[in-house]
Amino acid sequence: MLDINSIRKDFPIIESTVYGKPLVYLDNGATTQKPLCVIDKLRDGYLHHNANVHRGVHFLSQDATDLHESARQRVQQFLNARESAEIIFTRGTTESINLVAYSFGEAFMNEGDEVIVTDMEHHSNIVSWQLLQARKGIVIRHARLNELQELDLEHLQSLFSERTRLVSLTHVSNVLGTVNPVKKIIDYAHSKNVPVLVDGAQSVPHLKVDVQALDCDFFVFSGHKIYGPTGVGVLYGKREWLDKMPPYQGGGEMIKTVSFEVTTFNELPYKFEAGTPDFISTVALATALDYVEAIGLDDIMEYEHQLLTFCTDEFHKIPGMRIFGNAHEKSAVMSFLVGDIHHYDMGMLLDKLGIAVRTGHHCAEPLMHSLGILGTVRASFSFYNTEEEIEKLVAGIRRVSKMFGM
Ligand code: PMP
Repeated sequence: MLDINSIRKDFPIIESTVYGKPLVYLDNGATTQKPLCVIDKLRDGYLHHNANVHRGVHFLSQDATDLHESARQRVQQFLNARESAEIIFTRGTTESINLVAYSFGEAFMNEGDEVIVTDMEHHSNIVSWQLLQARKGIVIRHARLNELQELDLEHLQSLFSERTRLVSLTHVSNVLGTVNPVKKIIDYAHSKNVPVLVDGAQSVPHLKVDVQALDCDFFVFSGHKIYGPTGVGVLYGKREWLDKMPPYQGGGEMIKTVSFEVTTFNELPYKFEAGTPDFISTVALATALDYVEAIGLDDIMEYEHQLLTFCTDEFHKIPGMRIFGNAHEKSAVMSFLVGDIHHYDMGMLLDKLGIAVRTGHHCAEPLMHSLGILGTVRASFSFYNTEEEIEKLVAGIRRVSKMFGM
């Protein structure tokens, strides 16, 4: 089992105080805190390895390039991709999805062609397709959820048609915690010759992902949600797709030769990496992946599940509690409302007790519409959280409820 006391020492910020109270940081779905080794790596990068990558003949540039390319190999290994050229560095999940929506859309989608998403998508996996819709007249179809807020698989399957070109769905819902059966969906989609993009923003920090075992065609995630730095993310894509897709942005690095008459593009992965990459952060992301794997994703999963069970049991004892997301397979996220207390009031008052939760629509407004609510309060857990912190959350919710006469 995990040595939580020792793990917590790696994250000084979670031992800080707000309003004179110990911070209880339960907003890990939005971003995770960074262990010292990641912070040190960023400092080390700027102190000792800072020169622009790929273009220099001098020592420091080659050194920075080697570190950056090793980081790519580390991500390849982490996701078990076939080759490191299938790993594209981006700014995050959002940019990765936009890249696919633009470039896959450019190559493979025409007016009337369809993409299937779900009712639990983050805005980044909806609006990116709406931009393509505005540009090319594609059609967005969306699969609904059942009463436990799991995907209605029959409905999803019924959305497939002759015009379906891609399924793009989240692995784990950032609001509900629902873990989607992506392997099953990928197998079904492939039986119809339809590729699948998996949004792994909320899955990679909590469960083991093997892109070859899943056989997904694209997989995307953000560094900052997996204990890495902001500003860096990943797009994994199968070479067979990426090779056929046009560049997303033009600039340095993504070209082989440029003239005013003819420009030729670079090979993978550089074709999709215009401009100077965030090479200090890619290296620190690799350190974050080392850190997570040293703790062990199996142990992380088990411990976080324990936190989730504890929190769920405690929440069920709170009068007026409504939990959104009751999937059989669920990651450690609790979205809730109590009575008719506005989510914003609950969040503000918990904050005054030192408890950081997120409130609102969580960038998933269509999901809020389908649930018939405006927003929720969301507590999202990490392996550095404890049952004592959940007890504080529960006591805080009870205190706020009492203030509202419940
Ligand atoms: N998809 C999901 C499921 C998410 O939870 C998030 C972040 N909340 C995103 C996409 C967007 O990630 P980012 O803002 O890091 O690009």
